[in-house]
Amino acid sequence: MRVAAGLLVAVSLCVPELAWSQTAAPQAAPAPAPAAAPAPAAADAAQPKQPARAACNNPNALGVARTLEIDTTGGPGFGFEHFKELDFLKDKEVVLTFDDGPWEKNTEMVLKALADECTTGIFFEIGKHATYYPEIAKKVWNAGHTIGTHTWSHEALVNKKLSEDQRKEEIEKGISAVKWALGGVSPSSFFRFPALQHPPEMVTYLGTRNIAIFSCDVDSFDFKYHDPKKVMNLIFHGLEKKGKGIILMHDFHKETAALLPEILKRLREEGYKVVAMRSKSPVKSLPQYDEALAKDTKLPTVSNRPLSSVVTEVSQ
Ligand SMILES: [Zn+2]
Repeated sequence: MRVAAGLLVAVSLCVPELAWSQTAAPQAAPAPAPAAAPAPAAADAAQPKQPARAACNNPNALGVARTLEIDTTGGPGFGFEHFKELDFLKDKEVVLTFDDGPWEKNTEMVLKALADECTTGIFFEIGKHATYYPEIAKKVWNAGHTIGTHTWSHEALVNKKLSEDQRKEEIEKGISAVKWALGGVSPSSFFRFPALQHPPEMVTYLGTRNIAIFSCDVDSFDFKYHDPKKVMNLIFHGLEKKGKGIILMHDFHKETAALLPEILKRLREEGYKVVAMRSKSPVKSLPQYDEALAKDTKLPTVSNRPLSSVVTEVSQ
């Protein structure tokens, strides 16, 4: 049996459930704080429960076939593109994943397409982007989707010019930034390396941090090809070949956002089932990176209220 006992737990089964690698960082990352050795963070007692996905009014929607809870202890790897051990999907099952957001308009279009089909995915967010668009990160969370992280500034962690501390900082500050964007709520213990480049020492590091690593089975190459027909072909040829898999897309790209309704429709028509994944425990950010992030964002740490709740236009 290829699935490690106890790692994956199916927590629900209902059909349908009622109730896109690679962008350059828009600006240089601020000077790194010295990365200390990972220390266990204090228990996140105040972690609120994530809202459930909205009730589905469309009995013919794609839906969610089942939800898997992942014990991320030791940093398991998912996606046969790189990790060949955890064969957890049944035939015709897919996991939808979206990278490089949150981003204005495009992420929201993806959210709408998912909502219209009563389905879900994992969003691997770039920390810096989350600080640009915290309200969009919150929308992803509030819609009940899983949020993982994808570094602070999308640096290729195989870059030999980066010191080990700088690589760790990319990972850790990404986590702290998404947590900051979510108003102090920790995202899941799921991580994806930029450009799917996995430096062995950082794979080991994530293991010590109990963070699961996501590669993919089917790459849409939507970061490379902005032609909807080509992207559709890559996704569905990949699925035909493998029969199932984790699909890599980008909510960052407008072409993907625009194409998603069609992708979901075809998945439904061809009998694919969407599987939701969530981590058993949220990721524990490291305090020194939380502090460095708060300093960088130059925002008061006592208030994360959105602009609309602080500044209100009133009649004279
Ligand atoms: Zn990416």
